[in-house]
Order: sequence, then C-alpha cells, then structure tokens
Amino acid sequence: MDNRIRLEKIEKETLDANLPLKETAKNLVFGKGNPNASIMFIGEAAGRNEDEQGIPFVGAAGKNLDKLLEKCGLSLNDVYICNILKYKPPENRDPLPEEIKAHTPWLLKQIEEIKPKIVCTLGNYATKFFLAKTNVEEMKNQPGITQVHGKVQQIEINELKIKLIPLFHPAAIIYNQSLKTEWEKDMEIVKNEISRSNLCP
Ligand code: URA
Repeated sequence: MDNRIRLEKIEKETLDANLPLKETAKNLVFGKGNPNASIMFIGEAAGRNEDEQGIPFVGAAGKNLDKLLEKCGLSLNDVYICNILKYKPPENRDPLPEEIKAHTPWLLKQIEEIKPKIVCTLGNYATKFFLAKTNVEEMKNQPGITQVHGKVQQIEINELKIKLIPLFHPAAIIYNQSLKTEWEKDMEIVKNEISRSNLCP
C-alpha cells in the first residue's frame, strides 16, 4: 500500500473517531499536499474557510503561505501541510488540553506515515507542542516563537529523527513587514536544510 492510500485510510479513521469539536465543526480538516514529501508544515487549527472546505490553509493565512513557499521555490507538490487540531474550535477559541490530547494521536499517525525529515511548525502553538516532545502538559513551559524561530532543532518522534524548524505563523506576517523579513531569512535556513539533507527539490 502506498503512502497516499495509507493516509486516506487514516483520514477515514479520523473521521470515524468521535473526536471533540467534531459536533460543532462543518468538516474534518485533515491535510493537503504530497504524502511522500520530506517536509511537513504544521499549523494550529482550521479557521472558517478551512472548516467550510475541509482543507487546511485555504484562507488568508493559507494564501500568504502559498506565496511564501513559492518565493522559496516550493510548491504543494514538495510539502505536506496539516494542523495539530483536526476540527475548527468554535469562534476560533483556544483548544482545551483534553481536545488537544484527543486530536494529536491523529497528527502523530500522519507523521509516522509521511516520515518527514523536516517539520516546520507554523506559529507558537504548534512549535510549543513539538518542543514539549508532544506532551501537552509541558507546552506551557516552552519558549515562544519569537525566541526560537529559525533555530533548527533535532527532535525524535516515535523513533523518527526529525529536524524541527519553527517559523512565524503566516497569518501573523500578513501585515507585519519586519516579521516577513524574518520569515524570509528563516526560509533560507529551511532551504539550506533541504539541500544539506539532499532532499528534493
Ligand atoms: N491557521 C492555521 O493554523 N491552520 C489553518 O489551516 C488555517 C489557519
């Protein structure tokens, strides 16, 4: 079975699981991109547009992410994009710890299947989740994105060695030119890691 088919199976199982937030959301927002990619970009949770379409990063933040990736020579065919949470929280409120705990096993299944060499976290929330080694209780003790963006860290998830590269959230940089400059510098680091690890493209 190839990765695409296995991921489709996990998506179906996620949909069948009685996850918190399922009741209030319109659609499961599972993931998009290439299931064989070596790089994953992971955000926090779907917004309104993502919930409507069942696809991550299709709203304003997503359009910005597309532009930023394109500038670095990356397309959706080179990456896989998803979120920590698989359903939109109502009124875009912060998810509760029990909700995160219930959702993250499905993210970990995606990671186990895709086996990325590089994970770029988008924003504070996803970054803290990985810095806390996926332990939700420990997220509050982690440094914020301003301190750690662009700093490559070696992490291990279920015996998978991964380079973690925290990035600012694309929504945060829409109207902030200085963060945009930082993002572009950080993406140079991502590109260097791609070529150092001999990954395509
Ligand atoms: N912000 C996120 O973190 N994820 C999305 O899918 C959209 C906006």
